[in-house]
Amino acid sequence: MTPRALRMSQPLAREVAEQVAIQHGVCVRPVALKRLDTYTGQTEIIDVPCGATLETACPPCARRNRHLRVAQCREGWHVDAEPITTPNEASEEQRWLIEFRADTQARRDAAARSGQDTTDLDAVIAGLDAEINAAGMRGNVLAGATSKRNRSTRRRQDAPDLPRRKMTNTTLGRTFTSSDGKVYRPSLFVTLTLPSYGKIRDGVPVDPDAYDYRRAARDALHFAKLVDRFVQNLRRVAGYDVQYFATVEPQKRLAPHLHMAIRGTLPRAEIRQIAAATYHQVWWPAADEALFEGEHLPVWANGAGYLDPGTGEVLPTWEQALDQAAEPLHVVRFGDQLNVQGVLSGTPDADQCIRYLSKYLTKSLGDSLDPDQPAQREHAERLAAALRYEPCSPTCANWLRYGIQPKNAKPGMTPGRCRGKAHKPDHLGYAGRRVLVSRKWSNKTLAEHKQDRRTWALEALGQTDEPTDPHRYLWKPVPAGDANVPPLAVRLLRAVAERQRWRAHMAELQARADGQDLSANRQAA
Ligand SMILES: [Zn+2]
Ligand SMILES: [Zn+2]
Repeated sequence: MTPRALRMSQPLAREVAEQVAIQHGVCVRPVALKRLDTYTGQTEIIDVPCGATLETACPPCARRNRHLRVAQCREGWHVDAEPITTPNEASEEQRWLIEFRADTQARRDAAARSGQDTTDLDAVIAGLDAEINAAGMRGNVLAGATSKRNRSTRRRQDAPDLPRRKMTNTTLGRTFTSSDGKVYRPSLFVTLTLPSYGKIRDGVPVDPDAYDYRRAARDALHFAKLVDRFVQNLRRVAGYDVQYFATVEPQKRLAPHLHMAIRGTLPRAEIRQIAAATYHQVWWPAADEALFEGEHLPVWANGAGYLDPGTGEVLPTWEQALDQAAEPLHVVRFGDQLNVQGVLSGTPDADQCIRYLSKYLTKSLGDSLDPDQPAQREHAERLAAALRYEPCSPTCANWLRYGIQPKNAKPGMTPGRCRGKAHKPDHLGYAGRRVLVSRKWSNKTLAEHKQDRRTWALEALGQTDEPTDPHRYLWKPVPAGDANVPPLAVRLLRAVAERQRWRAHMAELQARADGQDLSANRQAA
């Protein structure tokens, strides 16, 4: 083959390798890491599965994650003993995640200093933060770097007027014993939905001009906070440390909604009352009137920050603008549509709900869109347009449009060009996590559920899962374009071959075990 022909054939080879990898359940976006074995001094390049967290569309990892989530949901829903939550020592995985995070941050800062685009590295960092949280470490690695503002009492979120039970120190729901002595463990499956923004037919607004896209956009942006408030109120009313496993999914009208498995039970009327009384006030400066747009945009001055392009005056900083805010920018509430279902542990109902909860986990929020329907496409475009200029966070470049310097303002910010997840069409304004699991749902973190599967597989092979010395290996990221990393197609096919070897080995062991059973049976007969 000529070098040119070889080059031409590469994308094809990669596509084929990807398909084969998907068929075999092998990660198609592996992350190459350099692993130094401190015992032998040898360095190896190891492919680590992407885990589907780095904003990569990796179907095998997405599927595997979904299976883990189903296991996690099932194990926690009806536990009958108080889960023990002692922080585990940072595992090897956690350690390398943190090291990798630190290295990536360093690379990102270096790129920013030399004026390069940091979009990709920012996305990786956001993904790593999510992964680090999922691995059982709570909070942000860099937390503490920002100081908390002192808020005036006027800004306090008012507690809604709801009944309160005396708090008991348990996470378990009530049980009921029937006359024949059987113990029942009732629980709830709740679906919470945002309000109406205009009449909908077949998933699209009947009158798009009358549809309240601004409100839809703001509700989606702050949906996660509303869910937090709901849980706080739920716990106050219930009088125990209510645990939940919830997923955020898109409705056909492109608004996020929430399915929540709740351990224990409350009267339905109370759930209704809590949902109706729950709201979240967004204490942000006003962002209703565009002061700067088009070519007329604030200009950056070193040492001063952003200036009004007409008068040369320095624009108020985020903190200054926040102090002036006399009322919340927005208040989010749930809509009237609420579904509350009682579920008994171990019933087909419970299984059905778990399937429902995990149904969309392998898809992004925007995947529910049907691109062949012009009305749906137009609806999605209008929502994306509304989201484009809504501030997504205190650091969002869109604040400049409303005459305010974003928090941590830096040169080069342009309204409408914020890279925040919430503005991306795939996210529909919701940048939070898709799966929300309370701390004491099951005894395990997702990383521990993963470990369960590994232990199971090794036991099936007749090997013990001995803990490796956590200090044995040192992990380092491999710089992009490193000549020691083979082309992706080659790496994928290698991983497939390895998976096949492992499966064959498992099958052989199984066959041997079956044979032993058979001969044992024969002897017994
Ligand atoms: Zn993957
Ligand atoms: Zn933004």
